[in-house]
Amino acid sequence: MTTNFIDTASIWLHAGKGGDGAVSFHREKFVAAGGPDGGDGGRGGDIIFVADDNLSTLLDFRYKRKYKAPDGENGRGARQKGRDAEDLVIRVPRGTVLKEAETGLVVADLSGSDPVVVAKGGRGGWGNARFATPTRQIPRFAKPGLPGEDLHLRLELKVIADVGLIGFPNVGKSTLISVISAARPKIANYHFTTLTPVLGVVRVAEEQSFVCADIPGLIEGAAEGVGLGHDFLRHVERCRLLLHVVDVSGCEGRDPKADFEQINHELASFSPELATRPQIVLGNKCDIADPDQVEDFRRYIEEKGLTFLPISAAARKGIDELPRLVYDRLQELPPVKVFEAEYVRPDKTAEPKRPFTVTRTGDHEFTVDAPWLERILAGTNVEDYESLQYFQTQLGDSGILDELVRLDVQEDDTIKIGEYEFDYVF
Ligand code: GDP
Ligand code: MG
Repeated sequence: MTTNFIDTASIWLHAGKGGDGAVSFHREKFVAAGGPDGGDGGRGGDIIFVADDNLSTLLDFRYKRKYKAPDGENGRGARQKGRDAEDLVIRVPRGTVLKEAETGLVVADLSGSDPVVVAKGGRGGWGNARFATPTRQIPRFAKPGLPGEDLHLRLELKVIADVGLIGFPNVGKSTLISVISAARPKIANYHFTTLTPVLGVVRVAEEQSFVCADIPGLIEGAAEGVGLGHDFLRHVERCRLLLHVVDVSGCEGRDPKADFEQINHELASFSPELATRPQIVLGNKCDIADPDQVEDFRRYIEEKGLTFLPISAAARKGIDELPRLVYDRLQELPPVKVFEAEYVRPDKTAEPKRPFTVTRTGDHEFTVDAPWLERILAGTNVEDYESLQYFQTQLGDSGILDELVRLDVQEDDTIKIGEYEFDYVF
């Protein structure tokens, strides 16, 4: 059993609509009626995803959920084509997997370096200049631009802790993680409720966040037979920085200096690897500590060349600058994080199909029940050939057409989908 913490986000994409074709006629002095010269509309913007190694969490997607690419420009007279819209580029951490929210179908896997077009912008409509034929010299119509693709996506990312929290039980590690983190990644494939959240995503600014793990929580858990221990160690060993939390108040009758030394000693026997990581020392429970005690401990720590920060996690004091301090320190540290492409693209044939049922509801009538398809249909202009083609493609890809054939559909049979009815044509 591998323990994977998954950061998730849910976002909506709206690719750009194509610009409308123009209806226009050539005008010139002394020329009574010129020919049609309406230009085509420009292409709507695509939404493109790229992997970015500077990002490590999906946190920003909890703050911004809707993404709209610009629309194409409408065509103009004198055969001027509308400008194509710019594409919208969305950067995500490397390893992010994009799934269709409704079905869980994998749309893209951003492990590589190639940009992936996820939502296509609509094509621009033809201007009336295109519709002039020898028999139809004055076309007074043009085509509207096609809508861009709309998608509701679920983003998933396996996260690895950048920062580890260490310290004795009851010094305030859980409290600290809860007050500084903006999100808690969930454990994937694991029915796990007993241990309180051990991972938190801390936001510093836009595109600046890191993942923090409560390591002793795991050690304690392992000792109690919770069984996360060694498997999870793989993850925390990638921590580049440790936050060593010490209770400076000594409220439980303990000596902060002795605690600090003992934890380091235990850490070394638990994982020599982890013990070599740089530490920032947090003197917690300052709200109930004697200031002299705090100063004495500060000197002790700073003499070791370590950074000391007096805080009170419970009172949320002294923690405002902590995320920035940690983030900046992380930037100076070499990456331990060797990226493993752990995600394996599932076999296409094993992918869950979009759910649907096809039922014969009359001699020459079939009813298709597929809510996702009704949504596509609602956004389809059934009068528009290209929109309809797109819809047909969805019918084909989903296996609905195969199913109809299997049920012995005949030419001109009625197919009901939601409130729409179609004739079946071979
Ligand atoms: P952990 O075992 O290290 O995760 O510690 P917890 O976060 O569970 O905290 C242990 C106890 O210390 C709890 O009762 C907290 O409310 C309390 N505590 C945490 N931080 C502070 C603090 O800054 N000041 C005071 N007075 N109590 C705190
Ligand atoms: Mg705890």
